[in-house]
Amino acid sequence: MGRYAFGVDVGGTNIECGIVRPEGTPIWRSRVRTEPRKGNEHVMALIAGQVREGLRETGIPAEDVLAVGVGMPGLVEPLRGVSIRSTNLFFRDYPVAAKLMELTGLPVYIENDVKLYVYGESCYGAGRGYRHVLGLTLGTGLAAALVNDGRLYNGSGCPGEIGHIPIDEIPYPCGCGLTGCLETAVSATGLVRQAVSALADGSGDHADSLLAKLYPDLGQLTAKDISDAYDQGDALAVAIMERSGRLLGRTLSYIVPMVSPDVILVGGGAAQAGDRLLGPAKETLYASIMPVYRENLAFVTGELGSDAGVLGSAKWAFDRSAGE
Ligand SMILES: [Zn+2]
Repeated sequence: MGRYAFGVDVGGTNIECGIVRPEGTPIWRSRVRTEPRKGNEHVMALIAGQVREGLRETGIPAEDVLAVGVGMPGLVEPLRGVSIRSTNLFFRDYPVAAKLMELTGLPVYIENDVKLYVYGESCYGAGRGYRHVLGLTLGTGLAAALVNDGRLYNGSGCPGEIGHIPIDEIPYPCGCGLTGCLETAVSATGLVRQAVSALADGSGDHADSLLAKLYPDLGQLTAKDISDAYDQGDALAVAIMERSGRLLGRTLSYIVPMVSPDVILVGGGAAQAGDRLLGPAKETLYASIMPVYRENLAFVTGELGSDAGVLGSAKWAFDRSAGE
C-alpha cells in the first residue's frame, strides 16, 4: 500500500517536484528547468525523470507511491487528465495524465496549478485552520481559487480567472482578447506596464522619477525595482502601488459578498510587494464590504513559497487515490 505521493508543479520556468508524506511533509524535493520550447514530450520526459530520480535517491520502492499529482498552468480537464491550453507552455489538448502514466507506471491526476497552490497553502500553510479560503496568485498574471470547507471548488470547470475581470479605468488590451483586464495592471507585468506607460507618455511628468533615472532602458524594469523605488519614496512607484492595490481591493469587494471566505490568502511572486500593494488593497476592500463580511475576514500572505504547489499536488494525488 502506497504511503507517499509525488507532487509536481509545472511552471513556465521551472518544474518543482517532491515526494510527500500524507501529513504534508516533503521528504525529497527537486527543481528542474522546464525548457518549454523543447516541446511537450520533453516536459513529460523531465517529469518522469524526476519521479525515477526521487525514488532512486530516497530508496522508496515505486509501489510505496500511491500516485503522482500534477499542477498544470492554464485550462485543464482533470477527469480526462488533459491539458486543454497552457499559458507559457505549448500544450494543446494534450493527454498529460495518460502520457505520464505510461512513462512512470503510476496513477497520475492533474489539476490547474493555481488551484493546487491554494490547496497546498490551505492544507499546510498560511490557510491552515480556515474552512473557507479565497486564495490568489499574484505573479505574471492574477488568478484565484477557492477552498470550500476543506475541498477545492470546481464550478463547471475553471473557476478563478479573476485576472480577466474587465475594469473601466484600466486601458490596456489583454492577451485574452478583452480590454482592461485586472491582471493587465495588477500583476508583476502589470506594475511594470503602468510604470513604462507613465514614463513613456512624453509629458515629462515623471522625468524626475527614480525609475526614469535608474532604468533608462525600460525593457529591464521589474516589479521588484518598483518596490525598491517605493521604499525610497518615489512618487510614481507609490502611485502605481496604491492604484494597483486599490483596483485589487475593489475587485475583491465584488467577490467577497458572493463567496464569504474566512480568509483571503495572497501568494505568488508579486505578493512580495507586501503591504506596499496589499495595504491599499485591504483598506479598499474593508471599506467596501458590509460588516458581516469583514468582521471575521483574515488577510494573509502565502508562507510555503515553491513548496505550496508541490504539497497541493501531492494532496490532490492522495485525495483522488482515496476516491475523493
Ligand atoms: Zn484578459
